[in-house]
Amino acid sequence: MSEQSKSPQAPDRTPRVVIAGAGMAGVQTAVALREQGWRGAITLLGDEPHQPYDRPPLSKAVLLGKADGATLDVDFPGLGIDLRLGCRATALRPADRLVETDQGPVRYDYAVLATGAAPVRLPGTEGLSGVHLLRTLDDAERLRPELAGRRRIVVVGAGWIGAEFATAAREAGCEVTVVEAADRPLAGALPPEVARYMAGWYGDAGAELRTGVAVASVAPGAVTLADGTVLPADTVVVGIGARPATAWLAGSGVALSPVDGSVLADERLHTSVPGVYAVGDCASFPSARYGTRLLVHHWDNALQGPRAVAENIARGEAEGVVYDPVPYFWSEQFGRFVQYAGYHGDADELVWRGDPAGAAWSVLWLRRADGPDAVAGAGRLVALLAVGRPRDLAQGRRLIERGALLDRERAADATVPLKAAVR
Ligand SMILES: Cc1cc2nc3c(=O)[nH]c(=O)nc-3n(C[C@H](O)[C@H](O)[C@H](O)COP(=O)(O)OP(=O)(O)OC[C@H]3O[C@@H](n4cnc5c(N)ncnc54)[C@H](O)[C@@H]3O)c2cc1C
Repeated sequence: MSEQSKSPQAPDRTPRVVIAGAGMAGVQTAVALREQGWRGAITLLGDEPHQPYDRPPLSKAVLLGKADGATLDVDFPGLGIDLRLGCRATALRPADRLVETDQGPVRYDYAVLATGAAPVRLPGTEGLSGVHLLRTLDDAERLRPELAGRRRIVVVGAGWIGAEFATAAREAGCEVTVVEAADRPLAGALPPEVARYMAGWYGDAGAELRTGVAVASVAPGAVTLADGTVLPADTVVVGIGARPATAWLAGSGVALSPVDGSVLADERLHTSVPGVYAVGDCASFPSARYGTRLLVHHWDNALQGPRAVAENIARGEAEGVVYDPVPYFWSEQFGRFVQYAGYHGDADELVWRGDPAGAAWSVLWLRRADGPDAVAGAGRLVALLAVGRPRDLAQGRRLIERGALLDRERAADATVPLKAAVR
């Protein structure tokens, strides 16, 4: 029943935050609001039927049956959060301060858009049996028996999800071929000189990696590549990226990026519509730190962003905060713990720490200052990739936050702690 129809004569005027999307970002926003002292109502709308859960375990323990799920440990009733599961936000009507849902309208004083991202489908495969995505708990549960049955699997896309899925499938004993249209894995994230070492990880784990070739078509039992190769496949898993789930905002006045469909939030994660914020995988924000707009599809952003949104709502923007994080993520693939912090550009200088053919190494990206600020033999640390070197990551992340200048030679020496390379 909608709120409006509950008590039309005496409308409920308790200040209310309505959060659309009950994933990590939505749930954390609700929790952080209470931590920040928000005393008004909180309504959390989630279109999935399950209790809110975490996604990273889906491509790891959940796939292998080592964990049943990853339910977030939050006492919603205890925190006074009105969690409505199986409830889809269908439109935002700012003129009336309403979120329309498939169960009726919900009035808001503040709205938070946290609808995440939806995986990109391979054209022509919708509804085709044996073709899977990996985004939701239901997806992971559908894939679990495929792994347990040791099926022949073709993974489309050698990004983070493709690599993690291939890792789990090999661990389960499946025959795995990964097809990637670019000339290397993680082409959108890492430069060729780094990614080429990761390409070797597939073969070492017994998975076949085919790069530089696109999928031409998928039919039950087979994937045909653009070069004519036919790969037998009992199961096909598509991991070719995700797009912000923002179609429901069409016509609302909330500005969306024409490039990637993300909600164009400002530096406080406020949208173009008064009282409406956006956070997590669905929103991009301007980063003064990196001088560009960032769209981050990683867990840490869905944890940190909500704290900023909650502060801005609970305290008011005059006392609130600007959100300008050092992005961070991790991935577990082929027996390695891979972590990345920061943001690098093509012009940044790449510095190796350790042997990339070995088990543990890092890569740093240093930005050289120009003109009078230039320091010979040094650069500002802007990003870092650590493979099996969590200490580098922990120290590097703090150094990036501080904008520390590193001595190039010392930074390249893997026996020197990163913090000791500061100029
Ligand atoms: C399989 C997998 C593994 C991952 N592993 C890692 C990892 O190892 N490390 C890492 O850093 N990151 C990882 N990530 C990324 C990380 O999980 C995401 O960045 C994070 O989940 C984003 O949270 P979110 O709340 O913004 O979006 P989501 O988690 O997508 O949550 C959004 C929720 O909103 C719901 N929704 C959508 N539209 C509507 C609507 N109109 N009305 C109501 N509800 C709606 C969705 O169904 C969903 O439940 C992984 C992601 C996946 C899919």
